[in-house]
Amino acid sequence: MVSKKSKANLSKNKLNKTVTKKVSSIKIKSNAKKSVLKKKSKKSLSKKGLGPIKEKKIRVDSKKLLELEESKKYVMDVAGENGLMVFKFLISQGEMEENQLAKKLKFEKANAIRKFLYRLYNNNLVSYRKVKKNNKAWYTYFWSANPDKLVMIITKMYEGEIRDTKKSMELNKAEDFYVCDICNRRYDVSESLENDFRCKNDGGLLEHVESQKMLEDKQSRIDFLNKKLEEVRKIIKK
Ligand SMILES: [Zn+2]
Repeated sequence: MVSKKSKANLSKNKLNKTVTKKVSSIKIKSNAKKSVLKKKSKKSLSKKGLGPIKEKKIRVDSKKLLELEESKKYVMDVAGENGLMVFKFLISQGEMEENQLAKKLKFEKANAIRKFLYRLYNNNLVSYRKVKKNNKAWYTYFWSANPDKLVMIITKMYEGEIRDTKKSMELNKAEDFYVCDICNRRYDVSESLENDFRCKNDGGLLEHVESQKMLEDKQSRIDFLNKKLEEVRKIIKK
């Protein structure tokens, strides 16, 4: 069902661009995300071997979700413009049979839409149900959107960056360092002295970085992310 090829389509760079333009430092690796998803599906298997237990599904306000710039960007980055169109359509229409979905969205064949469905599926953004009709050899596929998963993905992304930023603030507290004015390479005090405050790469001048300023920047970044998180959490229906 899930082709390797479409997994490869998930480029790290693209994922890194998912949030706002201001946010250049967010790094979500596709692998990290996949492992989150893997963990989840493991958890949903019961210990007694009774098969998968239905995860408690959170209900989300899909309209608000699609108004969020970062959610649109995320879907676009993993599944392209067509993928976003399919995702939106499934949200508005509910579950739909594959051929019917292709027809409604004016794809020539079910084959053409499948590519986008798989990309969405690889990112947990849609699910399918397959049904065998009248003893025929093939299955009919019914697709539906998982807006709740998208909310979880975005929440994890912000929480991850907050965690990382806090960690790096802890590290920076003790540090006093210099940075090259050409390539931005960092040097600690002794390294800077050794090199007469010149960069080893390009001879650029090493400038002292005020760690206090850096910490303030990071703190305001955390404040910003917390506000974003609040916004995302409002999408979840109580
Ligand atoms: Zn340099």
